[in-house]
Parts: sequence; C-alpha cells; structure tokens
Amino acid sequence: MRTIIEPFRIKSVEPIRMTSTEERKGILVRAGYNLFSIRAEDIIIDLLTDSGVAAMSAEQWAALMRGDESYAGSTSFGRFEAAVKRLMPFKHVIPTHQGRAAESILFALLGGADRLIPSNTHFDTTRANIEATGAIALDLLGAEADEPASDYPFKGNMDVERLEKLLAAEGNRIPCVMMTITNNAGGGQPASLANIKRVAALAHAHDKCFIIDGCRFAENAWFIKQREPGQGDRAVPDIVREIFACADGMTMSAKKDAFANIGGWLALNDDDLAERARTRLILTEGFPTYGGLAGRDLDAIAQGLSEIVDEDYLRYRVRVNEYVLERLIAAGVPVVRPAGGHAVFLDAGAMLPHIPALAYPGQALAVALYEEGGVRGCEIGSVMFGRQPDGGERAARLELVRLAMPRRVYTQSHADYVVETILAVHEKRKTLKGLRVVREPKALRHFTAIFAPLS
Ligand SMILES: *Cc1c(COP(=O)(O)O)cnc(C)c1O
Repeated sequence: MRTIIEPFRIKSVEPIRMTSTEERKGILVRAGYNLFSIRAEDIIIDLLTDSGVAAMSAEQWAALMRGDESYAGSTSFGRFEAAVKRLMPFKHVIPTHQGRAAESILFALLGGADRLIPSNTHFDTTRANIEATGAIALDLLGAEADEPASDYPFKGNMDVERLEKLLAAEGNRIPCVMMTITNNAGGGQPASLANIKRVAALAHAHDKCFIIDGCRFAENAWFIKQREPGQGDRAVPDIVREIFACADGMTMSAKKDAFANIGGWLALNDDDLAERARTRLILTEGFPTYGGLAGRDLDAIAQGLSEIVDEDYLRYRVRVNEYVLERLIAAGVPVVRPAGGHAVFLDAGAMLPHIPALAYPGQALAVALYEEGGVRGCEIGSVMFGRQPDGGERAARLELVRLAMPRRVYTQSHADYVVETILAVHEKRKTLKGLRVVREPKALRHFTAIFAPLS
C-alpha cells in the first residue's frame, strides 16, 4: 500500500484552537516576532521540538499506575533498568531527570581544563556541559554533511581520518571519544554502523573510552537497516544492541527515543567511574534508583523503550518526513536532504536570497509559516548562532528552519497541512522581508530576543 497510515488509533484527543491569519498577525506583533514567545494555545501545528512532546501509549499510561514510589530499590527502577539493558548492554544504568543531567555528571568526571572531547557533532547542552568544566568540545563531522542538497545516506558519520590524527597528536588530552546518534544538530542525520564501529575501534586502540549520546538511537538503527548494505534483514533491536555493545557508556534523553515526557540516563561499564557518577548523582539528582524521576516516570520509560523499536512505528516515523520532503522537493522548495529522523529542514538561505544573513532569512521564514498557517518551527541560523562572545555578529554557516516532528502526535492530514502552508509561503517568497533585532539578552538570544520587520 502506498498510503502512509499511523500505526495506532487515537483514544484521547487534545483540541487544536484554530486561528485566523488576521489574529496571528496581531499575535506576532505582541510576541516581538519571536515564536518562543507565543502561547501554545495560539499554535495550530507545533513543530518547535520533538523533545518531551510525544504522545504516550495506553500501555504507558497504564504503566504510570504501576509506578512504585519507594525511595530506594523501587520495582519501577528494576523494570527501567531491565528495559535499558535489553537494548543497551551496559553494566551500570543511572537514571537522571533529563539528558543534560547525565552529561553534567559524566563531564564533571571526564572533563576539566585543557581536555579535548571529540564527537561527530556535540548537541548544544553536551557542548555547554563540556565547556563548563574548562574542556574543549570538538566536532569532527564528515565533509559529506556540508552539502544540504546531496543525498549521502550517512551525513552523521564521524570523519575518522581527522579523529585518528587528533588521537595521535593530542591523545594525552582526550579522556573519551563521543558520537551523537542521530546527529541532532546536523539535521537528524544518522551514522552508519560501520562508522560507529570504526570510531569505537580507534578510541579503544588509543585506550580511550567511547561514549554514545543515544537520544535517537532507534531512528539511527532504522536508517542503518534501510540504508546500510548488508543490514536490511536484521531486526532493529539487534542493530541497537550491536551499536551499544561497542561503547563503554552512553548518555540519553528519554524525552526523545523513549516516548517519555521527561527523563534520561547515564550508563557505564566501568565500576569505578560508575561509583563516582552515583556519588555525584546523589548530590545533584537523587538516590541511584530514582535519579530525579518519579517511579512512574521510570515505568513510562521502560514501556516506551519496548515500543520505540517497533518497525511499523519507525517505518511510519521516517516515512512522514520523507513524504513531506518529496512534496517540497517536487515543488522546488530548497530543503536539507535526505530526510532526517526527527525533523524536516528548510533551507531559508536558498529560498530567500534577497534577505541578507544578518536580516535573518530563517527567522523571516519561520515567522511567515506561523502567519500563513499557524505552524511553529524553529530558526537555526544567524539568530541562534550569529552573536559572538566578543559582542560582534557573524553569519551562521547555514540559514535553516527546523520543523521537528513530535512522536505519534500529528497525523497524515496534519503533514499535508504543513506542506500546504510551506508551499503557500514559498509561492510568495519574493515578498518576504528581513527582520532586525530590537532588543536581545546577553546570551542565547533566540529564546527571548524581540524583532521588528524591516520595511
Ligand atoms: C535533547 C538532547 C540532549 C539533552 O537532553 P535533555 O533531556 O533535553 O536534557 C542531548 N543530546 C541530544 C542529541 C539531544 O537531542
């Protein structure tokens, strides 16, 4: 069958408040043209993030009721730990309230002044947690990722040659090698199993531990099954186990590929490192069998992990992005190719060449999508990355708008509506105008800056 259907039925619904274009124009003015300042009830389709916004299944809601809130040794922890270990065979599994808490604990132990921590691409919270210890976070992404229009299947791959040179030259400064799967900051693009294993072997040859940021592990495993020669007949959980069997530890945000609204974990094989991690955990998160979460959260994660590797779900998940992308490409809309696991990226720089980078074509496009159809995406360009630590401003590498797909939340007709909105904006792209910053905070300006349209 060619029609994509959601492999689930809907039992509980949330109304969407419909707004008119006129209403949205007023909302934009009041929000200072910053989509982060718009109330959720004023959004029709919210594609701001895929983090913590998944719809839980009936079994997950049922699992909440089984939650055991015992302070120590809860049965919820037992179910959580077993569910993680079924997919990720690490010796120690340490729950945390979010992914960044796992990062903070790990880099308090492995980071420090003058240390170097290479990855394909560090996610922004990972980078911030590394840099907070005085260490340097290095991105060694393969060159294939620089070309938005190419269909290279594994744009999340690490550049192993650069990694090898770095390990040879600076090995004494490197405590561990990391990889993010899929590469969130780079468009949800996967790394191949061959690349992950090559990076692990290189790290181990230099006596370094290999840590995976596994936030979208199931999407990455699905891409391996679909795109990597020789992997097509394997079960997704088998591929997942092979990925994690070659690592010494992982950090995880359960708000991504665990279908949970909150949660995360740090997993490690090394006994001594795990003991030190648990000591820090008690200071900052909680006792090692709950780590900042309620027992019921641990149960929701445990159940979510058994659902996220379902191949019918993963096929639908990625197919929606491919479908949206195919329709956009057919209409000549510039996009990042191929489809990523959790988002579709529009290339605002290519769509709006008449708007200079520092008049924020990505922000202009994101604002236009909201005005046109009430669709909220996120600028990833010079608003997010342009302000420099010395106060100057510089154009970002690319001017993108990310449309992140919440898991199991929207349907095929919502996807059609999003496509229609994008096509309508694309049609009138030449009339779109840039923006200027009226006011901005000292750091992370994209969350709170106020803009005004250029006349
Ligand atoms: C979301 C995310 C994190 C951080 O997780 P939080 O739960 O938001 O703290 C780390 N790495 C990647 C790749 C992510 O997508």
